[in-house]
Amino acid sequence: MYQHFDYKSKTLHCDGVSLETLATEVGTPFYAYSLSSILERASAYVNGLKPIGGKVCYSVKANSNLTILKELFAIGCGADIVSGGELYRVLLAGGDDVPIIFSGVGKTKEEIDAAIDARVTCFNIESVDELDLIASRASLRNAVAPIAIRVNPNIDAKTHPYISTGLYDNKFGVPAKETLQLYKRAKDIPSIKVSGLACHIGSQLTTAQPFAESWNFLLETVRQLGEMAISIDHLDIGGGLGINYGDGKPCQLSIAEFCDNVCNATKSLANQDITVMCEPGRSIVGEAGTLVTKVIRTKLNGSKHFTVVDGAMNDLIRPSLYQSHHPILPVREKDNEQIPTDVVGPICESGDFFAKDRKLAKAEAGDLLALMAAGAYGASMASRYNSRPIVAEVLCKDSVWKQIRKRESYRDLVALESF
Ligand code: PLP
Repeated sequence: MYQHFDYKSKTLHCDGVSLETLATEVGTPFYAYSLSSILERASAYVNGLKPIGGKVCYSVKANSNLTILKELFAIGCGADIVSGGELYRVLLAGGDDVPIIFSGVGKTKEEIDAAIDARVTCFNIESVDELDLIASRASLRNAVAPIAIRVNPNIDAKTHPYISTGLYDNKFGVPAKETLQLYKRAKDIPSIKVSGLACHIGSQLTTAQPFAESWNFLLETVRQLGEMAISIDHLDIGGGLGINYGDGKPCQLSIAEFCDNVCNATKSLANQDITVMCEPGRSIVGEAGTLVTKVIRTKLNGSKHFTVVDGAMNDLIRPSLYQSHHPILPVREKDNEQIPTDVVGPICESGDFFAKDRKLAKAEAGDLLALMAAGAYGASMASRYNSRPIVAEVLCKDSVWKQIRKRESYRDLVALESF
């Protein structure tokens, strides 16, 4: 069972709060998060990197709810952002004085201007064109923009192809062999300050080996930069640590072990005044969240059994997009026989499923099911497809809960449209 989720009187609780009670209070479907779990995981990073003075920039895309951001900033996390919208959220959540790293291949000039004005800690550059655009925007604003080059080391992270980012086949970063040349160019631009080196090879990495490969590569690049008399003040090792999705491939590294590995691997940077930064997302919020959905009905198509629920791929797209596995637990434990069933949503797509041929206790209309490990890339990837309003989000801690996002209404759905 995930930390801070347990059954009390046969009812599943999140951080001491009954999910059955929440369903009555906020309706279904809804996301519930354990704040204790989020804070423990984030603190494991913050404390784990303390021996080397490392910094944790939470990857906002994993779950960008304002309250969660605010809680993370309060315990010393910074932010890793990839859009003007994420910058807006970070500033709104009180992150104006935390380290902010701006990554992403498609930064527009409007986004760059906003980030310069917000004095972000670093732009992670992903192309020559982007370097030149940032230089010219900074120059126009009489500013000096701090940059790191995000290098693409051509390392296979051995994860799902859609979340692998460190191969030349992926759109991300600057190819390793072009990196030094780009640093030379950046060094001579007056409106640019060379500040760091960055890399992120992918997400849901479950073993130590690809991380080690990428860190070795980065350390070698730092050495080469030194030879060129280019000094940096930070090394950004990206995010990517995996979680347990109950698919038989649990992450083999705890956050503490991951941080120990980082500390050991980067010891040599201590006397060079280079701060290590990392950008974890999934490993902080993933296991802390659940999507609770209600069974609408069950049906048989021939001999095939379906459990039709009120949540759908627009609420949690990971199973449809990555064929990913989420454990499904009954909110109220029952002794019903276990049968193989497809858990599907109401959306008009055959890809709208949460599980296929999953053996679950036979459910009935009105039963609540909890899709576990849904705290990352769940709510933040939600859409309104099939004109389904975005669902409510609830944050729980020590038996107390608060709604941190209201369920949208049909009026909200059409609020920006005109005819
Ligand atoms: N940093 C960058 C640049 C990313 O693209 C991502 C996600 O893909 C992350 C950090 C966070 O990764 P994760 O949630 O796997 O820790």
